[in-house]
Amino acid sequence: MKSIAVPGFGFLELENVILDLNGTVTEFGDFIPGVLDYLKALAAEGFTIYILSGDTRGTLRQSFEHSPGIEAVVTKTAQDKRAFVESIGPQHTVCVGNGNIDVEMFKVARLSICTIQAEGATTRAMLQADIIVTHIKDAFEILLDSKALIATLRA
Ligand SMILES: [Mg+2]
Repeated sequence: MKSIAVPGFGFLELENVILDLNGTVTEFGDFIPGVLDYLKALAAEGFTIYILSGDTRGTLRQSFEHSPGIEAVVTKTAQDKRAFVESIGPQHTVCVGNGNIDVEMFKVARLSICTIQAEGATTRAMLQADIIVTHIKDAFEILLDSKALIATLRA
């Protein structure tokens, strides 16, 4: 659990990191270099990490079976993603995604980050997010650096 007081935004008590797969931690089907190291760093900070995907290729769980602290969850729709976030405690969850399928979970999560990078982000996802980054590495960096998070969120 990471506890951060943000003036004008409130108190954050974050323990779950939810990541969309396609376009968020992968680009065109391949993991973005460095992502797995960031996930390990977040797990070492005490975050529980969930990767949510429709798993079109059927390989989602295998990809993370040797990664302690990272759980792969099959979700087919925006409502599935939202329901999963609601089931683990949205007040303690940060969601990262890029597409329309992420909009519903962005609505309920305490903190939502939209990433653009290679595959782009939808305007609906961007408008629902608290923070927009151009690359997933920047999302990880601000989650690992509370001062950066505060500087961006404070009002
Ligand atoms: Mg996506």
